[in-house]
Amino acid sequence: MKKILLLGSTGSIGVNTLNVVREFPDEFEVEAITANSNVGLLLDQINEFNPKFAVIRDKSKKAELQELVGAKCKILSGDEGLIEVTKYCEYDILLSALVGFAGLAPTIEGIKRGKRIALANKETLVVAGELVIDLCKKHNAELLPVDSEHSAIFQALIGESQKEIRRIILTASGGPFLNTSKDEFDSVTVEQALDHPNWSMGSKITIDSASMMNKGLEVIEAHWLFNLGRDKIDVVIHPQSIIHSMVEFCDSSIKAQLSVPDMKLPIQYALSYPNRFTSNFIQTDFVKIGSLTFFEPDLNKFKCLQLAFDAMQEGGTAPCILNAANEIAVDKFLKGEIKFSYIPKMISHAIESINNHKSPDLETIFECDRQTRDFATKFKFGEEV
Ligand code: NDP
Ligand code: MG
Repeated sequence: MKKILLLGSTGSIGVNTLNVVREFPDEFEVEAITANSNVGLLLDQINEFNPKFAVIRDKSKKAELQELVGAKCKILSGDEGLIEVTKYCEYDILLSALVGFAGLAPTIEGIKRGKRIALANKETLVVAGELVIDLCKKHNAELLPVDSEHSAIFQALIGESQKEIRRIILTASGGPFLNTSKDEFDSVTVEQALDHPNWSMGSKITIDSASMMNKGLEVIEAHWLFNLGRDKIDVVIHPQSIIHSMVEFCDSSIKAQLSVPDMKLPIQYALSYPNRFTSNFIQTDFVKIGSLTFFEPDLNKFKCLQLAFDAMQEGGTAPCILNAANEIAVDKFLKGEIKFSYIPKMISHAIESINNHKSPDLETIFECDRQTRDFATKFKFGEEV
């Protein structure tokens, strides 16, 4: 039995993780789960999976929740509650599925304990890739990707030699605006941006998919996970999302991993690795799919992808600035405060205005995140955009 600490159990990845756990009651046990503020769903999950600990980040809801669950589960709260469970509770696998920069600090606590980290929270590697990879080596923590593209690459690399990789090819669906002209980015609505053609996900990553920032964050994630430079990372638009990504080797042979899109598959693999557990929750029918198509991404239209490539090349705290400015911009877009087309404008303005620190330590990364959020929150759209 493997014990799981599931950070972000009420989110899209969290719920899918519990769907996987439910299928394998003899393999996995849920030790602790966490939510930001969704008490109702957290309570249902506590009642079904009987974790010993649960964290509700919103402190005002702690007492109410503790009373509802009684003595069978200890309720913690706040950011310190998230750190506490990760630091002290007993688990074999940390499934890191908080959204955004908030995932970094607890994920690091799991790494320091030398646990298996099943990483959905890509922002952890985007903002602190070098540091996180070094810590994993130092503490012998195993970092397994949950992101479908990275899971595909990870699987394609099994039994292969790193030095024989010619390039990796990350596939991207192109999101809801693949066929929308750039001029329309001034007027697209939140509802249209949230209407992803292939995946059902949390709102932040869904907007990132519409702007293609998600692919940009994934490029940086892949750079750190697989230790590859810009010249070895390509992106191709593949609207069907059947090929989850590919690796080309030095002999020109290409390996890919395929299935109809369903996050339960990469989640299950990160939990079961190095084994595969038998499951039939999805069926890939090639005759029904019919055809697979591919296009070059338009970096002039999807400026966020270009900005991410540039930030990766720049290194230091540039990806941290990119990420923080993006989080604020996405939040503002979701609240109807800015146009969709302002998202990349806000990010590039932050990158131009905030100092880049090379080889940052953790404290510098936290400070850079704070500073960028502050900058982006106060930023008013005037003549500079
Ligand atoms: P969701 O928004 O659906 O879920 C986020 C989870 O984190 C919820 O449990 C939420 O609690 C909690 N949460 C939100 N903000 C905070 C915070 N500040 N502190 C503590 N907890 C918080 O996100 P997703 O599941 O879609 O994504 C999670 C991560 O996985 C992201 O990094 C995303 O990029 C990555 N990912 C997601 C994929 C997907 O298919 N969804 C695919 C690949 C990667 P509450 O419910 O109470 O708000
Ligand atoms: Mg992905």
